[in-house]
Amino acid sequence: MKVIPIHDATLPLPPDRAAQAPADGAVFDRRGRSMRDLRISVTDRCNFRCIYCMPREVFGDDYAFLPRRELLSFEEILRVARLFVARGVRKIRITGGEPLLRKHLENLIEMLARLDGVEVTLTTNGVLLPKMARRLRDAGLNRVTVSLDALDDALFRRMNDADYPVEKVLEGIAAASDAGLGPIKINMVVKRGTNDGDIEAMAAHFRHSGHILRFIEFMDVGASNGWKMDEVLPSREVVARIDRLHPLEPVSPNYTGEVAQRWRYKDGAGEIGVISSVTQAFCSSCTRIRLSTEGKLYTCLFAQQGHDLRGLLRANADDARLDAAIAQVWQQREDRYSEIRTAETAALRKIEMSYIGG
Ligand code: SAM
Ligand code: SF4
Ligand code: SF4
Repeated sequence: MKVIPIHDATLPLPPDRAAQAPADGAVFDRRGRSMRDLRISVTDRCNFRCIYCMPREVFGDDYAFLPRRELLSFEEILRVARLFVARGVRKIRITGGEPLLRKHLENLIEMLARLDGVEVTLTTNGVLLPKMARRLRDAGLNRVTVSLDALDDALFRRMNDADYPVEKVLEGIAAASDAGLGPIKINMVVKRGTNDGDIEAMAAHFRHSGHILRFIEFMDVGASNGWKMDEVLPSREVVARIDRLHPLEPVSPNYTGEVAQRWRYKDGAGEIGVISSVTQAFCSSCTRIRLSTEGKLYTCLFAQQGHDLRGLLRANADDARLDAAIAQVWQQREDRYSEIRTAETAALRKIEMSYIGG
């Protein structure tokens, strides 16, 4: 049987995905890509059970999350982050699980924000932002992305499966904005047949808000979300649906390799983005590397295995040894999963998003 890749080759490629000017010390993978974005997962736990990420049937009351001693300490994270920066990383994103559940996260932010020439950002479900936004901003956090999958309260509660109301997330967005963390990016994962009916309402809500709503195609990360291609709504349909109500025009990327394709409302009401990881892969410019909660390095969101840095850290390896390990992992990288995705690869046992960090 011929296997047809899911990536839609008929779509135009995103504008200018060429590599950016390499930094001193930059290291390149086998496809000529440098390392610029480091995503650090600080916990595998979450107060939500989003149906597409941590379905309750799998992540139930008896699920064995990592014990405390397995997690990288803030000092360990800082030590490796410094080495990544010397290798060209310019953006650090703190993620999880739900990163705001990690105790004293502001201390880590403060440590990372002191690194030279690095932007520190965070992705969160938002409900703890009213309590923490100001502290995070004072610690040096540059920006925040908040996930929100629906405006309809009953639907949102069903999707987070932990009975959190939409209002709590909206309060979190307002708190982040008041703390000076805006403009805020709002991530909506679109699952066809589940929340695609809320696309227009979400767009209407965030028009004129100054925040940037981004629609993410439902992805086959992990091995427990029951992903099916039928449940992916291609971004071009999202754009067409919004354009019908509020005409849009494309905007050029902020920087080369930007994951979201940008669109703005012709009437000046703001901007939206689409992240088409399934139908319009952007592997050729992927500069992201991920550090898991327990210190494994992953060179792709869809990786099946990681490289243990914690073992080296805790065996007292010096910086030169750690740096050599990081450089070697990147130099051997060949990943381009989204370009070669098939129904067969989608069924492979991959690492969970809540563990590797989205
Ligand atoms: N808990 C935080 C949050 O939800 O923002 C941070 C971690 S979460 C894993 C990071 C991002 O990944 C969120 O925006 C989430 O919606 C997205 N995500 C999780 N599973 C996904 C999937 N199967 N397909 C597409 N995006 C997904
Ligand atoms: Fe938690 Fe974020 Fe995953 Fe939802 S998407 S379950 S909030 S980690
Ligand atoms: Fe990068 Fe892997 Fe996603 Fe491709 S599939 S864009 S290589 S993380």
